[in-house]
Amino acid sequence: MTTEQLRNELEGRDAEHIVRRAWETYGTSLVFATSLAAEDQVITDIIARNKWPIPFVTLDTGRLFAETYLLLAETEKRYGIKIQVYFPDRDKVEAMVAEKGINLFYDSIDNRKQCCHVRKLEPLKRALAPYRVWLCGLRREQSVTRAAVQAVEEDTANGLVKINPLASWKEQEVWGYIAARQVPYNPLHDQGFPSIGCACCTRAVKRTEDVRSGRWGWEQPEHKECGLHGRS
Ligand code: SF4
Repeated sequence: MTTEQLRNELEGRDAEHIVRRAWETYGTSLVFATSLAAEDQVITDIIARNKWPIPFVTLDTGRLFAETYLLLAETEKRYGIKIQVYFPDRDKVEAMVAEKGINLFYDSIDNRKQCCHVRKLEPLKRALAPYRVWLCGLRREQSVTRAAVQAVEEDTANGLVKINPLASWKEQEVWGYIAARQVPYNPLHDQGFPSIGCACCTRAVKRTEDVRSGRWGWEQPEHKECGLHGRS
């Protein structure tokens, strides 16, 4: 089946059906890359509840919130799963910090992208290398940079197919699912952090602001992707 055929089949279907079809179609070529965001916790719950043996991977940039590490441990325990953690290359982090300082990302967009490349993109590439397809928690509603997200799309940056089971979900659906199934989530979401990344690059936002406005708050909305989703 081609990516386009699968996209036509799955666009608009419910998230559990999309994950099920992804598993049936791609089997051991499929991986779930979770950031432990609320959306990702929904997908984790779907996979774990159905006992589909889809591997879980995540990134530790070295700059995450303490709450994110607690949630990682809690999620593994709650579902009896293992989430494989990928770290940045030590030599590259040390060289970058030696040259540009520990908080280089505040100085320019280029520096910020360099840090995201070293701490996120390169480890993600390694995490995804054994697979052909990855599941991802992107939603169209999240920001201007995600308005075109589809349930099934080509990830040209990583040379993979990307499947977004929650592409059409509204924020209320995410929180409705989490409440109904008692899914563990990051408590920072209750403190004004709709999108949670590295602690040094994320701030709380008002309800009226774009979901992603708390990420790299010093940059314009169109710049607010790190390249993980091919939209840097
Ligand atoms: Fe670096 Fe900030 Fe990107 Fe994290 S979000 S990798 S600290 S620039």
